[in-house]
Amino acid sequence: MNRDWLAEALRLDKADPLRELREAFHLNEGEVYLDGNSLGALPRVVADELNTAVAQQWGQRQIRSWNEGWIELPQRTGDQIAPLLGANAGEVICADSVSVNLFKLTAASLWANPERTTIVSVKDMFPTDLYIAQGIAGLLGEAKCQLKLIHIDELDQLDSQTNLVILSQVNFRSGEAYDVGKLTRAIHEAGAKVVWDVSHSAGVLPINVKQHEVDFVVGCGYKFLNGGPGAPAFMYVRPQLLETLQQPLSGWMGHSDPFAFETQYRPAQGRDRLLAGTPNILSLTALHSALTIYQDLNLRDVFTKAQQLASWFVEILDNHPALKECQALKPPARGAQVSFQHDHAFAITQVLIERGIICDFREPNLARFGFAPLYVSFSDVTQAALTLAEVLVDGSYLQKQYQISQKVT
Ligand SMILES: *Cc1c(COP(=O)(O)O)cnc(C)c1O
Repeated sequence: MNRDWLAEALRLDKADPLRELREAFHLNEGEVYLDGNSLGALPRVVADELNTAVAQQWGQRQIRSWNEGWIELPQRTGDQIAPLLGANAGEVICADSVSVNLFKLTAASLWANPERTTIVSVKDMFPTDLYIAQGIAGLLGEAKCQLKLIHIDELDQLDSQTNLVILSQVNFRSGEAYDVGKLTRAIHEAGAKVVWDVSHSAGVLPINVKQHEVDFVVGCGYKFLNGGPGAPAFMYVRPQLLETLQQPLSGWMGHSDPFAFETQYRPAQGRDRLLAGTPNILSLTALHSALTIYQDLNLRDVFTKAQQLASWFVEILDNHPALKECQALKPPARGAQVSFQHDHAFAITQVLIERGIICDFREPNLARFGFAPLYVSFSDVTQAALTLAEVLVDGSYLQKQYQISQKVT
């Protein structure tokens, strides 16, 4: 018997405690946005706050605005993110990009513990993490830093040379979610430290940095946190490590007294030493106002809905007669995304986008769908799967115009 997927989805939407949050976002009529894992949708409040920041703060208050809230924006925005990581207020700070922050923390870890010279990561981590580690290894030279790539199941290969392990909480291709507690313990048993990159999980998966005694965290502001294109990233450092941490991007904003204009660098106390240069106020304003949506939310509810949305998509892929060739990857645990492999994955995503299902493609052959629980409904997920079924049946993805790749996929 054919199931009435849309009717089932409507029932799920009705029972969804987060369903009204969708109104807080600008979404296009007639489209389904399943790329919030890459660029979060625009919260309505952001446009208003940005207008104020431009017209009033910059336009009228001009330089006075630095003392009227701008200068504390990296810290105040960090405090909004802290509960999403299981950290305390005063422990998270927003600045720069994930790549730059990885540089700071990786270098800091080597600096703190120079007799351990190996940086370990996993082959299919997000490439910028690997590239930054390669850059540091190149800068310091073979004697002071080597990069070793392993498989996620090979953490037993860590040894007394391992300084730092760089891991993502969610694999950006497969959507697999790794066990932060278990892996952090294994790394600590080897006497090494860990930096968790939570770019693909912050705002949808709990991380519990305190409970798991996580050393370092970096994460992204423009994915599930909806901070807008190029939004600043964030960092957390375990308080005991922060006290003595030295990071090489020792710019004036990380100085103990930036406006003393001293000749000698002296790091600020606490998280402020993680800063380098002047904060991006407009981007931070967007991220800060986007995060107000999380203020009254329970992350558990957001997590639960993300899991349900992803499972619902998989359920349709598994059971719809026209979707047999789209077998979802089924990692043991997942974030808020589902991917399937297909020889024509790229062209299929192009047709879907043309038909208003916004998703993306990742090399070599993955079609990827993100389920941002704040604004995606079960009906949206169903519409995406049913449109996918139509595309596969009509074969339109084989046409020439869908094979052309642009610079950003
Ligand atoms: C998106 C993402 C990044 C982005 O890094 P930027 O330097 O901010 O562009 C880094 N790591 C992971 C795992 C990501 O998913």
